[in-house]
Amino acid sequence: MAKPMQCIVWGAGLMGRLLAHALAHAGHRVQVHDAADPQGYGSAARIAASMLAPLAESAITEWPVVQMGQYSLDRWPELIQHLPAPVFFQQEGSLLLWHRQDAMQAKTLVDKLFVNSKNLPPACTPVSVHADQLIELEPELSGKFQQGLWLPREGQLDNRQLLDALLQSLQQHKVDIHWYSALEMSDMEQMASSGVDWVFDCRGTGAKADWPQVRGVRGEVIRLHAPQVHIRRPVRLMHPRYPLYIAPKPDQVYVIGATEIESDDTSPASVRSTLELLSAAYSLHSGFAEARILEINTQLRPALNNNLPGIRQSSPRMLQINGLYRHGFLIAPAMLDAVLGWINGDTTLAERFQLMQKA
Ligand SMILES: Cc1cc2nc3c(=O)[nH]c(=O)nc-3n(C[C@H](O)[C@H](O)[C@H](O)COP(=O)(O)OP(=O)(O)OC[C@H]3O[C@@H](n4cnc5c(N)ncnc54)[C@H](O)[C@@H]3O)c2cc1C
Repeated sequence: MAKPMQCIVWGAGLMGRLLAHALAHAGHRVQVHDAADPQGYGSAARIAASMLAPLAESAITEWPVVQMGQYSLDRWPELIQHLPAPVFFQQEGSLLLWHRQDAMQAKTLVDKLFVNSKNLPPACTPVSVHADQLIELEPELSGKFQQGLWLPREGQLDNRQLLDALLQSLQQHKVDIHWYSALEMSDMEQMASSGVDWVFDCRGTGAKADWPQVRGVRGEVIRLHAPQVHIRRPVRLMHPRYPLYIAPKPDQVYVIGATEIESDDTSPASVRSTLELLSAAYSLHSGFAEARILEINTQLRPALNNNLPGIRQSSPRMLQINGLYRHGFLIAPAMLDAVLGWINGDTTLAERFQLMQKA
């Protein structure tokens, strides 16, 4: 590092915390402003399932996102290793399951994933599994499902442990943090005019007024405590009415998600969504009947109009980072390295991942 820089990170959800941590760790002076609280209640990051599933996501997204996901799966362990508190990270693959009557619909998706996997390293090739192999992978699901697809390289992490560990790192590095500090662009421009080298706008949907292509995509998600369920890896259930995933977190907590609704409505979850998510979970494993509902949450995924992530330099000292959409955890390390390269004059990664947007 040539000389320590003075940086402001605007928004401390996933991207803002990760960036503030990396900058402080590298010896820069960092100030953080977030509209909400240290627990991240204002962020999509707090309620996310935090699955790291590049191949599964390849069915619905563009290739640069898949590449960022692959890159990030290797980067997460290094990043987590430098944090002052443990963060659950797992890479034991994920399972795609379907009931017999949905086999035709599943075949289309399965075929697509096999084709897409040809562009990834051989270790990522999906494996078709039948009942006897399911017994080894997820014994409690083998009675109900005769077949499925195992995506062996996919992972997940614990989002809340990550947010906490990043916060602890910021505190240890004596980062100047301002919670409940919802600043407008005019405030920020004024602050940035006095000796600040860089402002990083990581406000997610909070940046809508200043980046018109930003929109929110509503997601409803449920957290259950289910001591009678023992599922080890993320499971996606193909279902014509209720496509669903279950992401197992430590201490037999399961994240059941998620709806995806084109709306920036953050009101509480609807009865319909709640019933659908819980019914689908119960249809996957009857042990969810006695689970306890810990939380039912709603948040907005920050998306750009093409549903792809982007970075843009809106003024000489401001980088805006947005559009992480439903892939934030999947791609955050790649975004981070692209931003760090950019401020050091190297846009190779930003170009490789097609992140550069015009202001
Ligand atoms: C239901 C759901 C499930 C998801 N599951 C997954 C998953 O399995 N895998 C995956 O990879 N991704 C998942 N995501 C997506 C992921 O959570 C997001 O992509 C990611 O959190 C976006 O990060 P961000 O930092 O851009 O925004 P956020 O995490 O939303 O953070 C934005 C921050 O900016 C702050 N802010 C807003 N306005 C202002 C202001 N004016 N001044 C100061 N601060 C402000 C907010 O308080 C917040 O803390 C999911 C999201 C949802 C909603």
